[in-house]
Amino acid sequence: MANNIKYKNMKQKIVAGNWKMNTNLQEGKDLSVDIIRSVKNDDVKVIIIPPFTHLSNIINETNNSFVSIGAQNCAAYEKGAYTGEVSAEMLKSIGIEYVLIGHSERRAYFNETNEILKQKLDIALKNQLLPIFCCGEMLEERNSNNHFSVVKQQLKESLFHLKNYDLIKLIIAYEPVWAIGTGLTASPKQAEEMHAFIRKVIQEQYGNDIANNISILYGGSCKPTNAKELFSNPNVDGGLIGGAALNANDFVGIINSF
Ligand code: PEP
Repeated sequence: MANNIKYKNMKQKIVAGNWKMNTNLQEGKDLSVDIIRSVKNDDVKVIIIPPFTHLSNIINETNNSFVSIGAQNCAAYEKGAYTGEVSAEMLKSIGIEYVLIGHSERRAYFNETNEILKQKLDIALKNQLLPIFCCGEMLEERNSNNHFSVVKQQLKESLFHLKNYDLIKLIIAYEPVWAIGTGLTASPKQAEEMHAFIRKVIQEQYGNDIANNISILYGGSCKPTNAKELFSNPNVDGGLIGGAALNANDFVGIINSF
């Protein structure tokens, strides 16, 4: 993408489903088929993010459908003696389009720092994967009124070395950690306030065109019952869904909330 590209109308409505470490292969295939059957156009970009072991199989189901596929993680290294890791190049070589980077579970349980996430972003982009970059504060950070500075720091330390033409390839997911898998949801007002803040931080660093065209998703106990209200906010461009992505009816209900 050239530096002088016009970014108009690149912002998309997106619903992405992170399956985490759930489903065996058959369950995953069944779930993907149910979702694919229900998504009949590309008005909303739908991305499913199954476990690594399922990707090669499920990608065959997604071919010729309106559903895209992503991976939950990639290594911070190119290749070599990193037992158990999966590289960005490996993912690209089987046709994966998207990769989650910086999910709070990776940050919390696998010690992924802003610096490591910066490396992962670089490697993903180098291999033409489109990153879905997650950011968000913990409960103590919100309670001590540090949520804006925490999120700004995450963006600054992991993203701000990127050039315009790479940054615009990202999807950002704001996921308050206290809302993930807890049944607690940020109120539409809290979500909109943080999404507007993230857009402003991007605007200050990269200008209006990029800020207005980057998609910012909300994640954290999003369900068919609350998605409509969350998605109706001007700065909420869709959702990153965990638990509700494991049930085709719930996931499709969220997609249809737009
Ligand atoms: C997530 O893990 O990204 C997530 C948003 O999970 P849940 O929807 O279950 O809160």
